[in-house]
Amino acid sequence: MKVIKIDKKDWTAGLEKLRGSYALIGPVKEKFYHTFKTLEPGREPDMAYANSRITPKYVIYPQSEVILKCSLDENDSDYKIFKEPDKEYQSKVVLGIRPCDADSFSVVRRNFDTEDYKDPYWLRAYETTTFVGLACDSPCPTCFCTSAGSGPYNDANMDVLLVDNGDHYLAKVLTEKGESLVSAAGWNDNAGDDAADRIEKKKTEAESRIQSRVNTENLAGQSLLDLYEADTIWEKEAFACINCGTCTYVCPTCWCFDVQDEVHGKEGYRIRNWDSCMYPLFTLHAAGHNPRGTKLDRLRQRFMHKLKYYVDKYESGIQCTGCGRCIRMCPVNIDIRRICNMMNSYDPESCTCEVTAS
Ligand code: SF4
Ligand code: SF4
Repeated sequence: MKVIKIDKKDWTAGLEKLRGSYALIGPVKEKFYHTFKTLEPGREPDMAYANSRITPKYVIYPQSEVILKCSLDENDSDYKIFKEPDKEYQSKVVLGIRPCDADSFSVVRRNFDTEDYKDPYWLRAYETTTFVGLACDSPCPTCFCTSAGSGPYNDANMDVLLVDNGDHYLAKVLTEKGESLVSAAGWNDNAGDDAADRIEKKKTEAESRIQSRVNTENLAGQSLLDLYEADTIWEKEAFACINCGTCTYVCPTCWCFDVQDEVHGKEGYRIRNWDSCMYPLFTLHAAGHNPRGTKLDRLRQRFMHKLKYYVDKYESGIQCTGCGRCIRMCPVNIDIRRICNMMNSYDPESCTCEVTAS
């Protein structure tokens, strides 16, 4: 790992050089919110942002993606034979991704890249993407990354981590992909011998600004059945939930999808779409039975999956990186920090738990 200095006056010229080899994706402001978009020539990422409303996970795992395609023309030799569509996986760079969002790829990888199954679409998109992260110096009040396995200067899954240092960035170049990128951009100024120490100091300061946290130390030891049956938690929280699904759509670590077949003219498409455990149709069986037929069932599933099933299955971490989006976006103020702390402190003997806001 090396640290270089990128003068902000050299930033734009470097981005322009990258355009020859990469598609550029970065945060831009649209109306009131930032969102990650492909940056057309002349458009730069807005690096003075807090975090995007929608996670950049869509770059690797699109909200809607054709995974197979077939001809419905009887004259074609491959009539009704599904095949992978021709798709170019152009090299791209995601600029300014925050540490919580980059960290989420480690969580999601557990679903798409296992010993038994390797999702070709997710893996190809991931492997052709270079991540240039941006450390957080001004976390939102809802951020709790430091107690969710990440942190404002966490460089997991990043190829380069930028640290804003006034008129320049200090850039940790972490991987070969990162080396190729800074070389293509022409960024090669030495940051000085004390650069790593300066980054460490800023990191400590940034971590001290994260005021919000979750307690997770007892989750693994709690009985799965006791938590499942903890109606003192689920009834109260489910009462307010309107099953809008917002929390799952904005979450970088939610990975559920549905597969649908569609016919367009003489072509058939098999399409993978994000889905949500908060929707009644998600688990509706063809026979009409629905094992998660009530909103209590669905809300409980979301939090049990993130904070108990995942914890027990992988024996490391929770299925959450503490980005705080679901807290900010929930229309009825359902707060994963409160639920996590209740699950962590739940006592099945007395059916009580500690209720804390953060
Ligand atoms: S965003 Fe809030 S109201 Fe909507 S499904 Fe999630 S928890 Fe329920
Ligand atoms: S569960 Fe909420 S806080 Fe955790 S990663 Fe998902 S959106 Fe962020």
